[in-house]
Formats: sequence, structure tokens, C-alpha cells
Amino acid sequence: MKYPRFTGAEPCAQVGTDLFFTPDNSIVYRDIREVKALCDACPMQGPCLEYALHVNVVGIWGGTTESQRRMIRRERNIIAEPITKAS
Ligand code: SF4
Repeated sequence: MKYPRFTGAEPCAQVGTDLFFTPDNSIVYRDIREVKALCDACPMQGPCLEYALHVNVVGIWGGTTESQRRMIRRERNIIAEPITKAS
């Protein structure tokens, strides 16, 4: 899955990715609603979510948590690729 062409203008790039995932990649988000609202206003939400559905990334991507993406993958029969340097 090709990495989306982010521009750096996305909300996550503006506010800092600390809000989107914790440094140790644990599933403890500071404020999921706040982060999801940022994603909902992001023009890259679609490509971001598609990427996160196909690559096993951590944190909130495209307005979804990891557990939400697992559910969507099951519904759409998507098997996520592991993260690689080329992802
Ligand atoms: S949709 Fe993706 S690129 Fe946009 S703010 Fe959310 S995590 Fe960042």
C-alpha cells in the first residue's frame, strides 16, 4: 500500500502527533474525540484511513482507532500488511 501524499498541512501535522499516539505506542489516547474531530476536518481523511486499513499502523489514523480499524478490516476482508520501511 502506497503511503499517502501528505502535505504537512494536515491537522495532525499542525498540532503534533503526540495527540494521535503515545510515544510507547500504547492504546491510551489523551482525548479520542478531539483527535477524531481533527481528522473529520482533514482533506486527507479518506486516503489516510485507506492506508491505515491496509498497513498495520498504530494510533489514530483517518479518524479511527486501532480497534475500529480491526472491525472495518473484518467487514471488508482486508488483511493489513506489516509496517515496513517501504510502507
Ligand atoms: S485524517 Fe490522517 S492525516 Fe488527517 S488529521 Fe487525521 S491522522 Fe492526520
